Amino acid sequence: MTERKFALGCDVGATKVSVTVAGGPGVIDDRIVDTTHRMRKPSDLVLEVCANIDKLLERNGLNISGCIGLGVAICGFVRSREGVIVASPNLEGWSDTPLGDLLAGKLGVPVMIDNDANVGALGEFRYGGIADGRDFLYVTLSTGIGAGIIINGRPYEGACHVAGELGHTTVIMDGPKCNCGKNGCLETISSGLAVERIANDRLGREETSLKKRAAERGGKVDAKTVFEEARKGDLLSMEIVDNACRYLGLALSNAVMLLSVSSVIIGGGMANEGEYLRKKVEHYMRKDIAKGPNEQAELHISARPTGVVDLGALELVFEGKAPGHEPAGRGNAAPLRT
Ligand SMILES: [Zn+2]
Repeated sequence: MTERKFALGCDVGATKVSVTVAGGPGVIDDRIVDTTHRMRKPSDLVLEVCANIDKLLERNGLNISGCIGLGVAICGFVRSREGVIVASPNLEGWSDTPLGDLLAGKLGVPVMIDNDANVGALGEFRYGGIADGRDFLYVTLSTGIGAGIIINGRPYEGACHVAGELGHTTVIMDGPKCNCGKNGCLETISSGLAVERIANDRLGREETSLKKRAAERGGKVDAKTVFEEARKGDLLSMEIVDNACRYLGLALSNAVMLLSVSSVIIGGGMANEGEYLRKKVEHYMRKDIAKGPNEQAELHISARPTGVVDLGALELVFEGKAPGHEPAGRGNAAPLRT
């Protein structure tokens, strides 16, 4: 009997880790999501990923010998050719971690790694159903903020291979301290973590429905709750959400003016806020795009806000390369779409 071949995928976020299995491109046969993950050491993460892969294989009747590779999406600055995590503002202590070698050593399969925004852009490009053009920006909006840039049908990675760090572009001079070490990054005001932090910092001072929600939840609120209360008309929540959208819109208008992309697609956990979020961000984005051709840029919410990253991670394996290039020594990558 021929052994079933399959690919494995893994998405490492700041607060969750998912592992997926697929017998072919564009489908996910099964997935395990661990939401207890937070700031784990690399060695602990490798053990956790391998344990969840074992579970996934067992319940699908698969053996690792049939695996053609593992594709990994991770939040952070990644040297994808070497499979090294250079640093991750949302994963403490991850500087210069050879995650690719660590996972390949444990599993005995090829491992391909890239930044989660680049992987999301790849998944969106292939399977998102919105990106009809050859030039777009995929923005992942969750605990942190990142972007994957597709220019002329190819992922753009830049000279240092870390292009698209939209979350760490400065939007407020001398603004709040960011996990990356700078001040006033977009991530300090518009990310899920920022919305949560700003809301919890302001809870004590004002009598709002958000404060009541916090009391029900042990004194703290998360970003999702802030959005829920903003939709209901709570003034404090509305102000925090509006401010987050204002700065995100500003950053996106700058990106559109710089890159002249035909569309911007928002994915990630916060994209589940859907049209409510899109309209607010679009209002501010349009305000700051200069009159001219760039006004045609469209803003979309991904049809699969979290799924495109899983699909993209699997796609790294099926395409046999990380976005933008093939493994070292194999020449230049083919365009994603010709
Ligand atoms: Zn930063």
